[in-house]
Amino acid sequence: MSEQRIRTIDGKERGLDDAVIDKFASGLRGQLLRRGDPGYDAARKVWNGMVDKRPALIARCAGTSDVVDAVRFAREHDLLVSVRGGGHNYAGKSVSDGGLMIDLGSMKGIQIDPARRTVQAQAGLRLGEFDRETQAFGLATTLGVNTDTGIAGLTLGGGYGWLDGKYGLACDNVLSAVVVTADGRVLTVNADENDDLYWGIRGAGANLGIVTSFEYRLHPVGPVLGGMVIYPISKGRDVLRCFDDFSSTCPDEVSTAALLLTAPDGNPAVALAACYTGSLEQGERVLKPLRTFAQPLADLIAPQPYTQIQTLFDEAWPPGRRYYNKSSIIRRLSDPAINLLLTYGRALPTALSAIALQQLHGAASRVGAGDTAFPHRYDHYSIYVHPATDDAGESEKIVRWGRECWDALQPVVERAVYVNALEDALAEGEGRVRDAYGPNYARLVTIKKKYDPTNFFTSNQNIKG
Ligand SMILES: Cc1cc2nc3c(=O)[nH]c(=O)nc-3n(C[C@H](O)[C@H](O)[C@H](O)COP(=O)(O)OP(=O)(O)OC[C@H]3O[C@@H](n4cnc5c(N)ncnc54)[C@H](O)[C@@H]3O)c2cc1C
Repeated sequence: MSEQRIRTIDGKERGLDDAVIDKFASGLRGQLLRRGDPGYDAARKVWNGMVDKRPALIARCAGTSDVVDAVRFAREHDLLVSVRGGGHNYAGKSVSDGGLMIDLGSMKGIQIDPARRTVQAQAGLRLGEFDRETQAFGLATTLGVNTDTGIAGLTLGGGYGWLDGKYGLACDNVLSAVVVTADGRVLTVNADENDDLYWGIRGAGANLGIVTSFEYRLHPVGPVLGGMVIYPISKGRDVLRCFDDFSSTCPDEVSTAALLLTAPDGNPAVALAACYTGSLEQGERVLKPLRTFAQPLADLIAPQPYTQIQTLFDEAWPPGRRYYNKSSIIRRLSDPAINLLLTYGRALPTALSAIALQQLHGAASRVGAGDTAFPHRYDHYSIYVHPATDDAGESEKIVRWGRECWDALQPVVERAVYVNALEDALAEGEGRVRDAYGPNYARLVTIKKKYDPTNFFTSNQNIKG
């Protein structure tokens, strides 16, 4: 009898009969892939080219009932499970060696109610797909800044984006969700039903169940005024000072980012990015200081459809490249912080590398720290130390550089990190998950024990009960 080599949840390897697997496959509406099947290699690949894992089985779920079957099958056979939304996670938590990947990528249903300004969206949608549909009605909600990111992983960790100053994080706009729990139940979670789980999935969702669809609140959005202004690094000190002063006082309609990167001419540069959501005339006035305080190398800020600003970083961070990421949260850019950013910005290990700061403020920081599992409710920037290469031979070099830069930044950052920006808490140390949840960690342990007492959902930035 033939069998597949599988990995169990406690890390052991053993065989599983093909006949048992066939029976599971025949019950699914979606497809089940094994090693060697056509499409297997494409399905196991994730955004970060550093991650190269081979699950034993990939269940390409077509709906919630497939997800329930996959959870029950995994439980019955003690299979290690990973859950894939968009596969965009830095640490590659959506794929494991030898486990069952529950792949939601085919679940792309989306239904907009323009009168109520809400949308029902399945968990396999990517940002670009979601925005395209909601923008057909002139509506949007906060999501991240790369169109190929999955809405699920992003929302379940928090979800920073261009609209967070005005409309809060992605998770703040979740009105309701459908969750498949570790014991295979299907629960609706919202403010009235299963409210503890509703609280938990808004920041720590990957630990608590599999969300198969979300209901989000939508807002009228676009066109927006946005884009990037690029300055030479020789002006870096003034640029970052201006950026920080601007960001600390800007209205909710603006969200900002700053990047230390390599300009198209090959020289290090500082880019400021912003998006204004509201009247374009007013936006021109508000964004002026970012564009005029010195002579830029390029000013690419312009009125544009919201779906266009959402593509701003797509070219810079394509899927399949080898990336490393270390992250922390910083409240303001002090002189020592600016010095460190410029020192490392001048010494990026490759021209594809960057250090990026993404702003959280306004509506997103007015939510109480204990109101959702996402706890970092104060004005700040999430720093991404983000080296990258297309050359496998440079992998060690970029990792070393990323760690060194992050270590150097420690005196100026908070002991806090956005969970979705963590590289791999297993490698970084369990304390980093605590840093990601701060004062909410203890409550999350209680909720984890209630909904996932055996730590069935383990391929994530794991909360240990
Ligand atoms: C280039 C780049 C830009 C980014 N920009 C932003 C940004 O602007 N704002 C921001 O907030 N974040 C941003 N991120 C971080 C992003 O939020 C995370 O990478 C997020 O994990 C991606 O979600 P995903 O569904 O694509 O990932 P996946 O790798 O599929 O999943 C990530 C984690 O969530 C779990 N998961 C996925 N789907 C589900 C589900 N339906 N139910 C339960 N668990 C699930 C997975 O098991 C895994 O642990 C960015 C990341 C990158 C690489």
